Amino acid sequence: MVSQTESSLNALFDGETDSPPIAPLGTRVGAPSLRWGAPTARERGPIVATHGNRGHRNVIGTHAGGYSVYRALAIAAGSLPRGHRPDLTDTAPSDRIGPHPQWCDPAKIVSLDPWGHLVGEAFPDYLALGHDIRPTIAVTRAHIDMPEIRGAIAAGRIRADGDIVSADGNVRVMKAAIDPVWYLPGVAARFGVTEKALRRDLHEQTGGMYPDLVKREDLKVFLPPIGGMTIYVFGNPGKLGDGKTPLACRVHDECNGSDVFGSDICTCRPYLAHGIEICIEMAQQGGTGVVVYNRKEGRALGEVTKFLVYNARKRQAEGDRPETYFKRTECVAGVQDMRFQELMPDVLHWLGVTRIDRFASMSDMKHDALVRQGIEIGERVAIPDGMIPADARVEIEAKLAAGYYGGNGRAPAEAVGRKLDE
Ligand SMILES: [Zn+2]
Repeated sequence: MVSQTESSLNALFDGETDSPPIAPLGTRVGAPSLRWGAPTARERGPIVATHGNRGHRNVIGTHAGGYSVYRALAIAAGSLPRGHRPDLTDTAPSDRIGPHPQWCDPAKIVSLDPWGHLVGEAFPDYLALGHDIRPTIAVTRAHIDMPEIRGAIAAGRIRADGDIVSADGNVRVMKAAIDPVWYLPGVAARFGVTEKALRRDLHEQTGGMYPDLVKREDLKVFLPPIGGMTIYVFGNPGKLGDGKTPLACRVHDECNGSDVFGSDICTCRPYLAHGIEICIEMAQQGGTGVVVYNRKEGRALGEVTKFLVYNARKRQAEGDRPETYFKRTECVAGVQDMRFQELMPDVLHWLGVTRIDRFASMSDMKHDALVRQGIEIGERVAIPDGMIPADARVEIEAKLAAGYYGGNGRAPAEAVGRKLDE
């Protein structure tokens, strides 16, 4: 006896749809067409990535990035109904973002859906026809509280103004979570490869998880199973992209060990805290600040690789030194870095940003990627020396010697990190 679930799964594997088209609505049961970079949301068309009605799908992949696997587990475990549709009552953005002219340039934004937070207002007719259109961006507000910011207040570098910074040291922000939505021809162009080659490698390296990458060349949009990003905005978000309000910005790539746990082998959390301080300072001067937090753990190599590299660095006979810092990563991972900043500027295009007045970063990769995308950068702000933990001197000296901003290509200064058991 085959259960109903098994029979519907068998139908799926046999190439049939797992649910019939929404027949009563009649007129538009097919997948909405997509024209990336079109002048309006209506002409662009909605992203439909759910499995509720497979006939409506117009993309490869599904919502929630890597978390889609947990959704599958929840359905398999019987705790989530297969056909659940979210009730989006009162989930609309807390603040208005866009539309900005960059949204209608198919070359400027290729890795997120600029209309992803506005699905309710952008596609009412499709929603009325029963299409399951889900937000890929959520915009909300928060208060953040960090010991470093309290320290900056105590040191007199930031003041509690009762607006951006409260008397008890909380900082008011707008934040947005953004899931990746890749327009494959645009992503391929950013990396200077053919769309076909990109599709083939995505297909292979995900273990054939998405056959449509190679079978359905008519589907141009892919929701990849990776983490997205979060942005934190300081000051009035309504001023973003107005072309006149000065902007401070930190683009930060995730490092859980340092960012959350304060691990001292790298400068990640100090740089994040410094970037937030620069953003608050700019907001208090009437500007705005944006921190972009990309889920690209350990230079997008992941924590397992990162920790293997830590061991390799610390066990070298000559000690953990700047001269071999990048080499040890390359030995384990095959590359020094997989973050590839090519797609990073998209989020700033989404915010309408054309100029960053104070850029809190020493990375030439980030700087050059922004400039290549037509975003002007005024001042580059290096991390103050006093904020660098002793064990992280190896990293910072290696980066300076490799030509990061602030180093002027100088030879690495003498620095030896702790041994593994110290
Ligand atoms: Zn780190």
